[in-house]
Amino acid sequence: MIIFDNQNDLKLHLEINGVNKKIGFVPTMGALHEGHISLIIESTKKCELTICSIFINPTQFDSKEDLEKYPKTIEQDILLLKKNNCDILYSPNKSDLYKSGEKAKKYNFKSLESVLEGIYRPNHFNGVATIVDKLLNIVKADYAYFGLKDLQQTMIIKELVKLNKIKTRIIGLPTIREINGLAKSSRNKLLSVENKENASHIYKQLLIIKENFKQNSIDALLKNAKEKLINNNITIDYIEIIETNTFKISRNINSKKEYAICIAAYVNGVRLIDNLIL
Ligand code: AMP
Repeated sequence: MIIFDNQNDLKLHLEINGVNKKIGFVPTMGALHEGHISLIIESTKKCELTICSIFINPTQFDSKEDLEKYPKTIEQDILLLKKNNCDILYSPNKSDLYKSGEKAKKYNFKSLESVLEGIYRPNHFNGVATIVDKLLNIVKADYAYFGLKDLQQTMIIKELVKLNKIKTRIIGLPTIREINGLAKSSRNKLLSVENKENASHIYKQLLIIKENFKQNSIDALLKNAKEKLINNNITIDYIEIIETNTFKISRNINSKKEYAICIAAYVNGVRLIDNLIL
């Protein structure tokens, strides 16, 4: 695996070694786990050159404290990437991607950003779109792989690519979970064993909603889930059923449309998100 810490060297390398090759790209913030690796594996299956980026993007964090406590395990990440046949790692410093004082660009993702994460983390998607826009322009991949664990983010990236006429195809892949159902997340490294046990109730409640979705009212399902989660020391930002394509919050079901249940919640101060397609 070749490691680049600046975009000019990476671009030069790709100009020479990327010609006529299918390029797959997996952008991450590091502290890699099986969720990230599932994206790398899919890329290596489909593409001749797989590039992973590790960059903790400051413009998508709401608070300095959250940014500072984000886990960093670069040595371990490099070993994992090598073991899984990643060809290139791009892990730059902030100055390689942002000019001094540069802020997130403002995008208009309409209904996709006016709910859920868009409300609870007001500038988050502008930050995500800013960095993904920059990275896609550097790497110019044929395919870029994103996790459906961050469903709203993946929808936003698909919209970004459409708006900016970026040629990369965005592929969303299923959520990888711990044995107890907890969605794998870099933030899980901040949870104790007991916290993880509590956090497993998030997926349990999503499954209960999925099982009872057609028979019960949405209000009753959400009320029941909220009670169970609160009883397990989980603080909820939101738990909502949305129409997958538009991300509009739904209270009534139209059998022709696809829905998802989305949640953001805190376990011992660590913010976790999850969702299930219903
Ligand atoms: P992050 O490092 O958290 O920015 O995530 C990088 C990519 O990995 C994003 O596209 C995430 O959606 C994806 N990802 C994170 N966790 C998982 C998971 N448990 N299963 C599948 N993909 C994931």
